[in-house]
Amino acid sequence: MYHTHAQETPYMKKKERSQKANHLATNRNQVIQLIRQESFTDRSKISSMLDINVSTSKRIVDELAADGIVIYLGAKESTGGRKAAKIGINPDYGYNIAVKIEVDKLIFALTDFASEIVDRKIVPFPKGSSFAGIKDVIKQNVIGYLMKANADGKKIYSIGFAVSGVASKDATTLVGSRLLGWSQIDFKKEIENELKLPVFVENDVNCAAIAEQWFGLGKGLDTFLLVTIGEGTGAGIIINKKLYKGTFGGAGEIGHSIFERDGIPCYCGQKGCFEMYTNESYLTSRIADAYPQVKKLSPEVIAELVKKDKKGIMPILDDFAKNLASGLIGPIMLLEPERVIIGGELDYVMDYVKGTVQTIVHNNWINKLNDGNDIVDVAKSTLGGDAFLRGLSVLLVSRVLYTKK
Ligand SMILES: [Zn+2]
Repeated sequence: MYHTHAQETPYMKKKERSQKANHLATNRNQVIQLIRQESFTDRSKISSMLDINVSTSKRIVDELAADGIVIYLGAKESTGGRKAAKIGINPDYGYNIAVKIEVDKLIFALTDFASEIVDRKIVPFPKGSSFAGIKDVIKQNVIGYLMKANADGKKIYSIGFAVSGVASKDATTLVGSRLLGWSQIDFKKEIENELKLPVFVENDVNCAAIAEQWFGLGKGLDTFLLVTIGEGTGAGIIINKKLYKGTFGGAGEIGHSIFERDGIPCYCGQKGCFEMYTNESYLTSRIADAYPQVKKLSPEVIAELVKKDKKGIMPILDDFAKNLASGLIGPIMLLEPERVIIGGELDYVMDYVKGTVQTIVHNNWINKLNDGNDIVDVAKSTLGGDAFLRGLSVLLVSRVLYTKK
């Protein structure tokens, strides 16, 4: 851990001391952030890339290496024949447990400090269960991972939950999830006290947006939206490279913006919510009307229908795509993102309708104003279902490694 007393003098005023500590914590966090983002960072370039002095950056890197947080990744020949040391985050520093809570199953993942999934376990539960009803299952599985880590000689630092709905800004409480029918679940109190590990809860789509920023199509972008389609419809918002959570933590709940006044009743109590026209139930029921043999959608089912009856299925998929694109215009006009990434369990539908979605979005008048130079790119996520767990893992690693100011 970082000690600041070496630089202090007895004459330093309390305020100056705390300012200096803040400054050092900021430098340390910046160095870790840079090393995490650039997987092969030249140790010698850190001070210039971050504009902090050479001795400070050297001392921070030495401390991080001594703590086992960063490792040397080998050397490359530089022009002078001397070898430049490359450093990166040590993936084996330890594990964090990432848990995704879906409407009928729990997905547990053991993740390393590069936010790769080391182990995964899927545990189904009856749809409509209360939190109290599955709390013991959560604990048993977490304890299973604690024992596994112990056997591997690894430390587990924290546990995170990715859940639909609104998480409190301090990441301790699920304020409410309409999809699960849960409200005011204090994860910190319910789980942390018994397992003695820091516990955090975050909205699942926000986690996926973070994964896009670190590993997916959001990499390097300043402002983008990740829109997930599946059981529900939601958005994660990255503005100026930061996750935007709104005033109360619920920003991005675009599934419950009104798509059609007095339209299809939604489980949230409103009518005509966007989600009712873009979720899995909507598409499933449209397809089942035309093809009664279809009970459940999957990439294989859609591929088969497109292969056998393209003329029949494409208008249904296009209708879905038009709903999706029309509902995206509002958020696009509001934020003017560089890209809208479509993810979630139903994202495979984009393989057939990406053109339709793009055409509608590109015909938006703001794009037309730009003389045909499209502002907004629409793309299908490349990360698949692991996005939620890997993004959650990134957030957990940040919480473990960054010094609080
Ligand atoms: Zn709704």
